[in-house]
Amino acid sequence: MDSATFVPGKRKYLFCTDEKGGAILQSIIDQVVDKNLSFEMVFIGKVQFTDLVAWLSEQRMGSYLYIAAHWNQLKAIKQLAEEIGFSEEEAQYIGYGEKEKNVFCGRCHGITTIDTENTEQVEVDCIYCNLRLEISNHYSRLRDAYLGYVAKL
Ligand SMILES: [Zn+2]
Repeated sequence: MDSATFVPGKRKYLFCTDEKGGAILQSIIDQVVDKNLSFEMVFIGKVQFTDLVAWLSEQRMGSYLYIAAHWNQLKAIKQLAEEIGFSEEEAQYIGYGEKEKNVFCGRCHGITTIDTENTEQVEVDCIYCNLRLEISNHYSRLRDAYLGYVAKL
């Protein structure tokens, strides 16, 4: 699990998190409250995605964004924040949980999910048709999965 670090001297602090992420950000939130700094907080899951877009879009320069969420969600939210204009210097993204990767089977179109937290797995057996798949770098946004090719035995 990553941890967040407090970045001082910002005009306003933005926290975007869920329950578990809130625990990760707790020490940062405490410091912001202690120092009487300006902040806003939204809970992922309690707001609509479109509301999240609106909230991020209306923030001004000098705001600093903390997002803590499950890896599965973090990727999409990070992408969103970057599209809205938050740079690497203006945000921290903290993921928790298992890092997962979906692999799309070219034969049966089934999706096999693998845990990539510790290993850099390059092959997997399709859980639907047992075909040995080589995990490619080709990511399909449509299927939220990496394309699996027939592994050369
Ligand atoms: Zn398959």
